[in-house]
Amino acid sequence: MVFLTILIGSEIEKRSSSTSIIFAGAQFNLVENGNAPIHYIWLHGDEKTAKLALNHHISHFPGKAFFIQNDDREIPYLSTIIDPNRIFSRRGSYLTLKKFKPYWPPGTLKKALDEIDTDRIQFLEKIMPTQNGVLISVHNNSHGYNVKYEIKNSRKTSIKKKQNPRDFILCTNEADYEKLAVGPYNVVFQDTVKDRDDGSLSWESLRRNVRYVNIETRLGYLAKQKKMLEFVGRMLN
Ligand SMILES: [Zn+2]
Repeated sequence: MVFLTILIGSEIEKRSSSTSIIFAGAQFNLVENGNAPIHYIWLHGDEKTAKLALNHHISHFPGKAFFIQNDDREIPYLSTIIDPNRIFSRRGSYLTLKKFKPYWPPGTLKKALDEIDTDRIQFLEKIMPTQNGVLISVHNNSHGYNVKYEIKNSRKTSIKKKQNPRDFILCTNEADYEKLAVGPYNVVFQDTVKDRDDGSLSWESLRRNVRYVNIETRLGYLAKQKKMLEFVGRMLN
């Protein structure tokens, strides 16, 4: 608990703004704590534990945190709903646009895809950290999803017997993996861009060679997710 002492005396400059950060119609709030190139993002509006954990974290640790302004997993878009973590590629956008609305009148689907492409460029400009920075996303799961699903796609894994498989850290940078794997949490390392990417932020980060970390925690386990965030923030600082 050494780092807690350091925090008490530190000057925290915290600003909150919502200056029109919009992606596919979804608004994001930005909370800034200093200028460190550690960016955090909360994308799924129904994953409230992750939101609370990140909100707490950014008031104690330096970086920028982006919060989607939404209460559901999907966001309304045109006459359908789409998963905001499936629109970080054109292919992913195509699949999520068709998921709840299989039929699109001629020309309308292409127009929507072009619009999301344009939005995405501007949005990524804002959320991606500067060189050598790291992008950390926070998620919750409430069903069967757990680290075992990620093992086959991972080049290195560190699974801890005492950890619940639904609490885990995914990272895309090998040096980060080595730092994180020595800690108490489940960690997997994925650095290969799949041909059939699903439009999630992790694949876009890999394509850009941006260090990316996903902190996945069971919904409702707030203390756990705060600790995982603290650990990642400290190790990758
Ligand atoms: Zn999620």
